[in-house]
Amino acid sequence: MRHILVSFCFALCAALIPTSSIAERSSTRAFHKATVAGSPVSTAAKKPKKKKSATKKRKSSVSVRALTAKQRATVAVYEACVVGEESVRKDERLFRALDLAFAAQGEQPLRGSPDKLGTEICVAELLGLSPFESDDAIALATEKGELFEFSFDRIVFAPELALHRRAGRSWVPAYLNELTRSMGEAFPDAVPPLLRIPSVVRTKAGQQRLFMNGRTPARCDVKGLYSTHTSGAAIDISLQMLDNARRAWITERLLQDVRERKILAILEGRGGHFHVFVLPPEATLAYHQSRKVLQAQR
Ligand SMILES: [Zn+2]
Repeated sequence: MRHILVSFCFALCAALIPTSSIAERSSTRAFHKATVAGSPVSTAAKKPKKKKSATKKRKSSVSVRALTAKQRATVAVYEACVVGEESVRKDERLFRALDLAFAAQGEQPLRGSPDKLGTEICVAELLGLSPFESDDAIALATEKGELFEFSFDRIVFAPELALHRRAGRSWVPAYLNELTRSMGEAFPDAVPPLLRIPSVVRTKAGQQRLFMNGRTPARCDVKGLYSTHTSGAAIDISLQMLDNARRAWITERLLQDVRERKILAILEGRGGHFHVFVLPPEATLAYHQSRKVLQAQR
């Protein structure tokens, strides 16, 4: 089981993704465009040109392997978090990971850091959330009831977000439903949709394309630099559409949900959105029972 879990590919977009899904799609287009455009040139190229192409490929390969200091720090945090003694029960390993994750969340709340990124990836892995390899895998998971579509009108997706990617693990729509219901109560005059969602579930292939196009340092070829979006348990909540009062409300609400151990959250500055990893309610409950978090807060 451990090997299966360790092989999962997760990654964070929040502090790592500099742009919204608009950029995702455009970068993906650019990738395809470059690929398509590159094929005939490569086929028709004379020998010297092929050599030049090969050189470029080698350079690209080298750069792919290089890690920035922040990436190395994230991987180190992940490795320290995910590795546990064999004698330790699986649920206790998860609780220890959550201890680390929530300790990181408490440091400069909502601000991205290697501690937050590495521990979130670790938690996702220890929860055993399988990543989605491809669009077909997402479609199949939706058919099987492993992914659920968001079926309420208090949110709106970025129009360029593919329909099949407007889905998440069952507790993710439930969380967003409750969040927007509370928001509607706090702002009774607000006209739906109340929140804009630029990204939910991603595929490993899609995430890696973002990396290969230089759109994000999150990558699926390095353990510990995965994206939790590939798990279906992460959503991005855009700051667009929100006036100052509603920005303040949702910021405080997310911080409260972090304190209640429901979510892990980061404000992605350049992307202008909150990245929210939603914990399964049963994991939150078990963690509360183990650590008696609620009792300690009272
Ligand atoms: Zn995100």
